[in-house]
Amino acid sequence: MSERRGGEKTLEEVKKKVMERVEEVLPSDVVVTDVDFEGPEVVLYTNSPHSFVKDDSDLVTRLAKALRKRVKIRPNPAALSPAKEAKKVILKIIPEEAGVSERDLLFLDTGEVVIFSKKPGLVIGKRGKNVHRISRDTGWVPRIYRQPPIPSKTVNTTRRLILSDDSRRKFLRNVSARIFCGRTRSRGTESRWARVSALGGFQEVGRSSLFLHTEESRVLLDCGVNVAANGTDAYPHFNVPEFRMDDLDAIVITHAHLDHCGFLPYFYRHKVIESRVPVYCTPPTRDLMYLLLTDYIKVLEKRGQEPPYTEKDVKKVIKRTITIDYREPTDITPDMSITFYNAGHILGSASVHVFLQDKGHNFVYTGDINPTPSRLLEGADNRFKRVDSMVVEATYGDSRHGSRRKEENRFRKIVRDTLKKGGKVLIPSFAVGRAQEVMLVLEDMHRKDELEGPVYLDGMIYEATAIHTAYPEYLNRRLQHRILHEDDDPFTSEVFEPVEGSDHRQAIMEDDEPAVILSTSGMLEGGPILEYLRELSDDPKNTLIFVGYQAEGTLGRQIQEGAKEVPLPTPTGKTETLRIELRVETVSGFSGHGDKIELTKYVRSIRPSPPSKVFTNHGEPRACKYFSNHLRRTVRKVFSMAPENLECFRLT
Ligand SMILES: [Zn+2]
Repeated sequence: MSERRGGEKTLEEVKKKVMERVEEVLPSDVVVTDVDFEGPEVVLYTNSPHSFVKDDSDLVTRLAKALRKRVKIRPNPAALSPAKEAKKVILKIIPEEAGVSERDLLFLDTGEVVIFSKKPGLVIGKRGKNVHRISRDTGWVPRIYRQPPIPSKTVNTTRRLILSDDSRRKFLRNVSARIFCGRTRSRGTESRWARVSALGGFQEVGRSSLFLHTEESRVLLDCGVNVAANGTDAYPHFNVPEFRMDDLDAIVITHAHLDHCGFLPYFYRHKVIESRVPVYCTPPTRDLMYLLLTDYIKVLEKRGQEPPYTEKDVKKVIKRTITIDYREPTDITPDMSITFYNAGHILGSASVHVFLQDKGHNFVYTGDINPTPSRLLEGADNRFKRVDSMVVEATYGDSRHGSRRKEENRFRKIVRDTLKKGGKVLIPSFAVGRAQEVMLVLEDMHRKDELEGPVYLDGMIYEATAIHTAYPEYLNRRLQHRILHEDDDPFTSEVFEPVEGSDHRQAIMEDDEPAVILSTSGMLEGGPILEYLRELSDDPKNTLIFVGYQAEGTLGRQIQEGAKEVPLPTPTGKTETLRIELRVETVSGFSGHGDKIELTKYVRSIRPSPPSKVFTNHGEPRACKYFSNHLRRTVRKVFSMAPENLECFRLT
């Protein structure tokens, strides 16, 4: 940080203030020995951490309210029993059914013990009984990580990256200094304005990025790439004069799709970003980002294009993530705090609510939203504390989906009919979101004996599904209940079979038995789906079902529009002509976006009341403009517009 200006304090000075306030709030028998800071959180060290972790204790909530900050409790290192002894005690307290062994315990130098378990509920115990006992008897504070029932390489990697990162503590302190030590740019005065620069994703789909700035703060909301574009058209307009990388305070990512996070690792090639700029997102977004960003590098390499960053840069991003769950307000700069709300789009997707403290202004950027609940996710949450202005997505702002239920029934019938005839059903799908929605329908059919044959999962779909099983609390409530309380996880159903390598794939194609094959990529632009297509396209018994959007110029679009002969790239780099004899169907009911009607209803029914200013983005020009006009006609007293990229609009 540069020289100190008016209003700026050192962390030591802030610490003193916090300590005084804590002593006022705590009962006299609970002693806090030290105060520290970790990113946006205040860390309190105590000799009696168990007084805080009891389920009926509201001390943490009371402290958070008094300090207006997120609070974390840590044991005073002097009060810890040695790890070796603690291990024995912990294993005695946790019931055997939780399946926790010595290998599943990880003692951190923060005084926390990470406990990995497939059954976190059993580890925690009724009303937190076990957690409290562990803390009381050993001094260590337990942190429980769910081990997904389908082992996930991604989840293991991201957790390991963060737990083993030596530089993270220092990094988090830098973040704390920015948040807690007062104003550095606005010279101690209040920010009189806030505005947004549209850097990408306005009147277009792809490279979403909004630059939100006040006199004090510089924050980037999303940082995407346009995977279909070439050269600099693929990236947001980071060369505008108001944006300087060195000034950035924080980056917020709404969800893991590449058009919202694909450019992120590029920033983390730079030391100044790596040393002090955090990426705020939900825990599932962090893991899905790792999966999709590393895959993007491979896809570009296969296409003969040079990726703008390496896998090492992706790992740097993961190490700099600070995860926040839904509805947890968090300060990210001296004058801004953010809260994530479920966006219903993919696992972990969020709308971000930004509170601009000086003006008391509430801004919401919806990210991609699906307001209607699906089998996989709850519908987008639009019950905010307050909303004054909003950027809302308009992917389908000018069109309508078919009825989701009718479309699902049509899907089921197509699958049934094809299998009955002894054919194979081929479903190209994106790995994240769409695939799991389709899997839930197929699992339901299997349970009701409507599915005569196995479902093969190929490409990244199985790994993406494994990540879903690590976060049941982010899924649709009914599904969550099934997984957590009925011990019945549909994703682990015996009907699903991951395809292991090319021999297995070949055997599946040559086998005469009916089957469903779910494979990437979603628009037939690559991936194992092409191998299946080459083998299965000449048999009218088989069916190809499109469940997602097919972009202009893709092979998927050509086949969807009825082409009977299409060019197919072969693994050797040549192109052959493929005859399309199989049945081709499109089912539209699995969209992760709201349509015109759903989006309008979403805006109109915002709680406590709809915003007075709305800006549309994330849609073709026609969709963005149409939806903006439509809102003006249907929402009372709303000002709305569809900005273009490079426009700048004022919020306060
Ligand atoms: Zn998306």
